[in-house]
Amino acid sequence: MEKLEGKELQDSLTFNWKNAWEVIDENEKGKVFQINEEYKEFLNKGKTEREAAREIIRIAEENGFVSIDEIIKNKIKPTAGTKIYANNKDKSVVLFVLGQEKLEKGMNIIGSHIDSPRLDLKQFPLYEEEGLALLKTHYYGGVKKYQWVTLPLALHGVVINKEGKKIDVVIGEDEDDPVFFITDLLPHLAKDQMAKTMAEGITGEGLNVLIGSIPYNDKEIKEKVKLNILKILNEKYGITEEDFTTAEFEVVPAGKARDVGIDRSMVGGYGQDDRVCAFTSLKAILDMELPKKTAVALFVDKEEIGSVGNTSMESKFFEIVVSELVNLTEENYSELVVKRAMSNSQVLSADTLAAFDPNYPEVLDKKNSPYLGKGLVIVKYTGSRGKSGSNDANSEYIAKIRKMFNENNVVWQMGELGKVDQGGGGTIAYILANYGMDVVDCGVSLLSVHAPFEIASKVDVYMAIKGYKAFYMA
Ligand code: MN
Ligand code: MN
Repeated sequence: MEKLEGKELQDSLTFNWKNAWEVIDENEKGKVFQINEEYKEFLNKGKTEREAAREIIRIAEENGFVSIDEIIKNKIKPTAGTKIYANNKDKSVVLFVLGQEKLEKGMNIIGSHIDSPRLDLKQFPLYEEEGLALLKTHYYGGVKKYQWVTLPLALHGVVINKEGKKIDVVIGEDEDDPVFFITDLLPHLAKDQMAKTMAEGITGEGLNVLIGSIPYNDKEIKEKVKLNILKILNEKYGITEEDFTTAEFEVVPAGKARDVGIDRSMVGGYGQDDRVCAFTSLKAILDMELPKKTAVALFVDKEEIGSVGNTSMESKFFEIVVSELVNLTEENYSELVVKRAMSNSQVLSADTLAAFDPNYPEVLDKKNSPYLGKGLVIVKYTGSRGKSGSNDANSEYIAKIRKMFNENNVVWQMGELGKVDQGGGGTIAYILANYGMDVVDCGVSLLSVHAPFEIASKVDVYMAIKGYKAFYMA
């Protein structure tokens, strides 16, 4: 090698992340904007885990995926290229494209979550106070409570009535729909409130949703406004107050995802943690025709409350579906083959991360923070207080991913969540790592993660699809 000096030496030895907008050509730029139109649609159609699961299944079926129940029932023998999906209680979904290699050799898995922070209605939510009817809520996931007041809100959910009939309810998303609202104090009377900390200024029990104010027309009756609300709900949906006990209602910000910035470079919308990774991994797997290894896209629920419960990553659902696939594809079923299929797999745990925010530089390490627009983020470790609770991926595995991204012109960056000891968080990575799989966190960074309106860069969405496709093809 010739001896380099000065600027050339510096260029050859030092390294900086690239801004993806500066890397792509005009043709790719067109694709960036095009794909993000689809992304916004996906966000609008899936504002709860149930809606997202339904939308994923709809799109999967449209693209030739068949339910595993159908495959088992009709004794279909899956072969390389067969596209299969499994639905876990309408709240989580897994898609498979069977590879040329046997399952035993392992799968290429991308795992995202489709639940997002929100306000759930309590099981006995409706009450009346001084002529106003309200709904009591219990927040779900990491919510900064003060962000949820004085916003137009929508009600999404499902009710199982006493006959066992499932009724879907969405109010507040159509232009003509009414919306709901949580009040806040006017500044003139907020002296005491403003003296509190931001964690205490708005309380969980204070997040009561305003739902109506017209009294039922009968002087004999108490709680007339509440009765009028129940009457409307009964006329529209056939439900009674008791039916709330068997309902799952989620209060989410009303309205659609939108372009942000005069250059339309960003997408703003609710629930992008982690539907941005759900969408991008879905797009990647839809394009798979005949991968070498079986490609898997996992869309799980309950990540925001610690991956607990039977629709979460901690549930055995995924392992059971893989067992079914082994049973369908092997001459003789063996648990050892399932274990090999799991432990030989490699995973991208696809989740969001906080992008560098110029308004809050004090909590971020500029050298190790991900940046909006600098591509897909690889996160070696998450956790808190000395990487506690983190998967901390092996360098050998990260090296493989790095090489693959570079060879496929994927703009990527490495990032970690905030300064050391500033806080922290976790993902589903450690759960899959328990099987012996190679796992690394790899997703899209956002501004204002967990806020009612989060921001993603359109070029990062595009790079995520590109990166996930490369991973599936490896
Ligand atoms: Mn997440
Ligand atoms: Mn989250």
